[in-house]
Amino acid sequence: MPFIPVCEPLLAGNELKYVTEAVSTGWISSSGKYVSEFERQFASYCGCQYGVAVCNGTIALHLALLALGIGKGDEVIIPSFTMIASAFAVCYTGAKPVFVDADKDSWNIDVGKIEEKVTTRTKAIMPVHIFGKMCDMDTIEKIAKKYNLFIVEDAAEAHGAEYHGKKSGSFSDIAAFSFFANKNITTGEGGMVVTNSKSLYDRARYFKNVCFPLDGPRNYQHNDIGYNYRMSNVVAAIGLAQVEKADIYREMRIRNHQLYRKYLSGVPGIIFQSEPSQNCVDVCWMNTVVIDAGQYGHTKDELIARLKEREIDTRLLFTGMHKQKALLDYGCDASGEYPVCDWLTENGFYLPSSSGLSEEQIQFICSVIKEYHYA
Ligand SMILES: *Cc1c(COP(=O)(O)O)cnc(C)c1O
Repeated sequence: MPFIPVCEPLLAGNELKYVTEAVSTGWISSSGKYVSEFERQFASYCGCQYGVAVCNGTIALHLALLALGIGKGDEVIIPSFTMIASAFAVCYTGAKPVFVDADKDSWNIDVGKIEEKVTTRTKAIMPVHIFGKMCDMDTIEKIAKKYNLFIVEDAAEAHGAEYHGKKSGSFSDIAAFSFFANKNITTGEGGMVVTNSKSLYDRARYFKNVCFPLDGPRNYQHNDIGYNYRMSNVVAAIGLAQVEKADIYREMRIRNHQLYRKYLSGVPGIIFQSEPSQNCVDVCWMNTVVIDAGQYGHTKDELIARLKEREIDTRLLFTGMHKQKALLDYGCDASGEYPVCDWLTENGFYLPSSSGLSEEQIQFICSVIKEYHYA
């Protein structure tokens, strides 16, 4: 079997057609019809009224926090088990990220441990829907209401995920998505914030475009420090083509995950993220397994090496935020224990997860894992 990469983008719709149109008409900056059309259609896909397209998911998070007015002296609660961008975005505003360990079944933020981290400085909770599984939003909404906190979903891994019939992104005051090349919907590099609030939408558009006044003359007078976070029309052309196929791409990822579960069922020591809760749709961004070396018979590192010999690519999982030198130097409090996060980092990894994987490829990967257990 030829080399299987860990994740490749699938550009199977109108991507080339729309990009060609953007280039051939000369509309390659952020002024161009694809940007507004992509914003409109992606926001609507999330069940939100407004979208603001930006250059990547990290700054989408920053923009969301800026729109909420979060800054120096504030605290934002985030999971320890997440990608570094969740924490960095908080640091960019001058606020401090505060960490909560993961839940051992869902691998999402442990909602039972959020309240003990709330202080008088806490302004927001940032739930991250890890690997496309929605967090326990009922509980998070209750806590947010009780302490008067904003919710900012980091939905970078969860395009189209559902919780009790509502889509990811629609639970927030303002939410952020990434369209990096390995994400379920991609523009190569790209991101978007979505919201149902007209005022947050306006603030996001304002800060994204170097704080040019939204209305009135362009007289080059700026009242706040702004950013150039604009997405180009060429990139948005890819995004629009992706949204047109969002449901198809979503189903492909879900099917792949089901095939992994099927072909690995009964292999001892292979642990998956919990199954979707009732009335929820997990969108299976990355097929992640955690290895119980005692039961499986080999460590995670040994299995990764065996897969590599068979030309199967894998990736390690995130290192917890409580172990990041950058964040400790910044002044984050890493005291306390984060056992679930550490267990995931030490024992888990991603299997190939491209939308376009074939059943034969997944079967082959699983057979290598199975044979190695019995070897
Ligand atoms: C991918 C990702 C991001 C950042 O997105 P970029 O587009 O790479 O900047 C943020 N948070 C999480 C959880 C991610 O997986």
